Amino acid sequence: MSSPLDILGLTHEALCAEMGLLHEKPGKGTFHGDAVFQALYRHGTFDPASLPAFEANPRLAQKAAERFRLAPPPVTDKQGDGDTYKFLMKLEGGLETESVVIPMRQYKTLCVSSQVGCKMGCRFCETAQMGFLKNLTSGEIVAQVFTARKILNEPIENIVFMGMGEPTDNLDAVITAVRILADQRGLCIPLSSITISTVGNVPGILRLAELAQKPLSEGGLRHLRLAVSLNAPTDGVRDGLMPVNGSWDMAELKAALQRWPLPRPQDFIFAEYVLIAGVNDSREDALALAEYLRGLRATVNLIPYNPRRESPYARPAPESVSAFFRALMDAGQACRIRGTKGDSAMAACGQLGNRALSRRRRAVEAAPSAA
Ligand code: SAH
Repeated sequence: MSSPLDILGLTHEALCAEMGLLHEKPGKGTFHGDAVFQALYRHGTFDPASLPAFEANPRLAQKAAERFRLAPPPVTDKQGDGDTYKFLMKLEGGLETESVVIPMRQYKTLCVSSQVGCKMGCRFCETAQMGFLKNLTSGEIVAQVFTARKILNEPIENIVFMGMGEPTDNLDAVITAVRILADQRGLCIPLSSITISTVGNVPGILRLAELAQKPLSEGGLRHLRLAVSLNAPTDGVRDGLMPVNGSWDMAELKAALQRWPLPRPQDFIFAEYVLIAGVNDSREDALALAEYLRGLRATVNLIPYNPRRESPYARPAPESVSAFFRALMDAGQACRIRGTKGDSAMAACGQLGNRALSRRRRAVEAAPSAA
């Protein structure tokens, strides 16, 4: 018999289909699959035998209990300064995910990881320093939200894929996870409260843009939000910061961003811009950025650089951040400055990642295996 399926990685449809296979009569999985899905996300439990739907069919309850398992990875650490904190969960095999709980006015945002480590190599980012270790499964992505809501009891209403990893580099798992998070029968997080942040992977943006044309009920992801980590106003500056710019330059990136559907007047995309002293924070940079964004309905999120360990870069002085902000606004570009919550706990943007862990792992892999 095959090993049990991670129930947190299954969409409603997939769970019902699997339940159908356990049924003696074919095509009968939806009723029981739906009951399990709803109990899982409403109450945080998986115990088919306790559900009224299974009262008349204890044998099916037992089969379901054997076929699926609810086993979110255990939380091994919590680190934070006050309300903003990151928590780690230990995966099978020993690697850890990192997720950050960020309080907003009325609710909390969860910043989730899509990979352990990252391949993109952005020079200013801590996660890049650990290299790529693993793609998370859809279940491991959903487990971060499930754990924050059901185990840590946090009122999470907003999800940003801005933790470790590049979501477009693990897109199938990310898309499945988004479908599960948004399902109204489950966690019911509206797609307009879920943001995928990308380094600027053009095929990934185009695939998501296609999905964002259609509603969830028709297999699409309408109202999903997009953030692009721009971090530079020109190819010259971006080439020096983000190796990905060598694959898709800023003109190709802009063409892809123009395909993102923004059906309602209040819709816009985010352009993330990490401000680094002396690198991309001059008045000319601000004007060039406004010029680049012309014709895109974008809001710039200015993130004063959070130094990574042993960083060659510095955070600009608050006056430079304000001057950059004003130059953008004067040029007619919507913009806001993002606070730097969590930086004392290495939980702020670009500070996630455990270099010691990846070093240990590489050392183990490089060592000759004992004969
Ligand atoms: N790979 C995706 C998701 C990670 S998001 C992406 O690039 O969008 C991480 C965000 O934090 C990105 O917007 C990135 O530009 C920003 N960031 C990375 N390192 C940072 C640092 N040291 N200080 C501030 N922001 C940083």
